[in-house]
Amino acid sequence: MSVLVCFHAHPDDEALSTGGLMRKAADAGHEVHLITATRGEQGEPKPGVLSDGEELWERRVLETAESARLLGCATNRFLGYEDSGMIGEPSNDNPACFWQADVEEAAQRLAEILREVDADVLTVYDAHGGYGHPDHIQVHRVGLRAAELAGTAHVYEATMNRDDIVAAMEHMEDPPVGEGDEKPGDNIGMPAAEIRYQVNIADQIGPKRESIRAHRSQISDDDFFLKVPDDVFAQMFSTEFFAVTGDGDVGGPTEVELLPGL
Ligand SMILES: [Zn+2]
Repeated sequence: MSVLVCFHAHPDDEALSTGGLMRKAADAGHEVHLITATRGEQGEPKPGVLSDGEELWERRVLETAESARLLGCATNRFLGYEDSGMIGEPSNDNPACFWQADVEEAAQRLAEILREVDADVLTVYDAHGGYGHPDHIQVHRVGLRAAELAGTAHVYEATMNRDDIVAAMEHMEDPPVGEGDEKPGDNIGMPAAEIRYQVNIADQIGPKRESIRAHRSQISDDDFFLKVPDDVFAQMFSTEFFAVTGDGDVGGPTEVELLPGL
């Protein structure tokens, strides 16, 4: 049995980015922990979701706990920073936001948890945070440093296969809409040649989609991830991709049952 820690920026990132891996690791008997840097304060709540006087972050804490349960996590916790919002927003200047956090200080907070749970494997994001969100870039920086401090043996960067996405976009009638300035395509993830591993999570696709659905304050049945038919969703999201820091061209991802270290 090994210990997997998945470090994410906001509530709901865990669902789409590493949800299948988390559930698959848990199903295989490993201990899985979710750590989320922020409570997603800058998210846009769906109309009518919040009760009178309820703050978005309060709801998102509950949604994250439910998502973590669906993904088989032993624990889920927050690192205690605030959501920085999309790049260029005034919220980037909030001194309490994750983007403004001192990397060393934040890494020490995370390293403390890595030591406590005796983590064997940590997942972060690729160097540009998958699509350039400041909090996602910070997950990369803070995560790598924390693993160094805690001596965590294996660190993987959750990413997306840019080649697959660009190809899929060319065939889509109803492409997903990016967040903010995000344009699906060239600025997303990493080229396949630079991705070390891929994990098939077809057997975990149900829980993965349910964990997305758990984030009801952010997503409704009309939104792409919940609207597409099950078979299309499975086709698009049954593989999760992971890079290793410092790799250059490795000739494309190798399929593994679970990431080395698990
Ligand atoms: Zn995010």
